[in-house]
Amino acid sequence: MENNNSRRNFLKKSAAITIGALATNAILNKTQAAVNLVENEILPVDGGKYTLPALPYAYDALEPHIDKLTMEIHHSKHHQAYVTNLNKALETIDGNVLGSPQTLENIFSKIDKLPVALRNNGGGHYNHSLFWAMMKPNGGGEPKGKLADAIKSTFTSFDEFKKQFADASMKRFGSGWAWLVLKDGKLKIGSTANQDNPLMNLDSVEIKGTPILTLDVWEHAYYLKNQNRRADYIASFWNVVNWETAENLFATAK
Ligand code: MN
Repeated sequence: MENNNSRRNFLKKSAAITIGALATNAILNKTQAAVNLVENEILPVDGGKYTLPALPYAYDALEPHIDKLTMEIHHSKHHQAYVTNLNKALETIDGNVLGSPQTLENIFSKIDKLPVALRNNGGGHYNHSLFWAMMKPNGGGEPKGKLADAIKSTFTSFDEFKKQFADASMKRFGSGWAWLVLKDGKLKIGSTANQDNPLMNLDSVEIKGTPILTLDVWEHAYYLKNQNRRADYIASFWNVVNWETAENLFATAK
C-alpha cells in the first residue's frame, strides 16, 4: 500500500513537472489562443492537470447556425470527457517516458509508442480546443491576407477550396475531422478518423502537417440539429468560421 502510494505520488509529481500541461483555461481566452497551442506554449496548471477550456463565447452565440444545446453538450460533456480521460491516462505513465518539456504536440510526435488512451483523449482534447477557436459569432466570409492568397494559388479559388474541404468532410466515413494543413510550405486538405490529427506520428494518419483549419465531423457535433445531414452542418460551419484564427495559425506555421 505504502509503495503504491509513493509510486502514485512520484508519478503525480513527475507529471506536474514534465507533462507541463497547457494552461487550457487560457487557451481560448483570445484570438491568439490557437497560435499559442501550436507554439507549444507551456504554462503550469494546477497539479499538472489538463482542464476544460472555457468557450470564448456563450453556448447560444453561434445560433442559428450551430445550436445552443449541441454546443453545451459538445463542450461540457464530450470535451470534458476527453480532458478527464486524458488526465487519467497520464497518471498511468511515467513522466520520463514522455520526456520534457511536455506538450500535446510532443506526445503526438511519439504517439505510436504510447497507449491508445493518450491518442484518443489527447487528440480529443487538442482537436476540440482548436475547434472552439475556429468558430465565432458573426464569423464566416473569406480569409484575408497571406492565407487568402495561399488558398487561391493552391486551390484556384476560395469556392474551390470550400468545395474540396466540404468534400473531405463528407467523405470521412464514420467519426473524424476534416483538416486544412500546411505541410512543407504547401496547403493540403484531408481528414482523420476518430480523434486522430495531422500532428500524430502514425502511418494510419493520411494527412500530416500543421493545422490551419479543422471541422469536427462526429455526429455528436451536429446530430441534435441536423440529424444525419452532415452536408447541412458543413454549410452552417461556413457561417461561423473564425478566419482570424486560421490566419494566425498560417502566419506562425513552420
Ligand atoms: Mn466533437
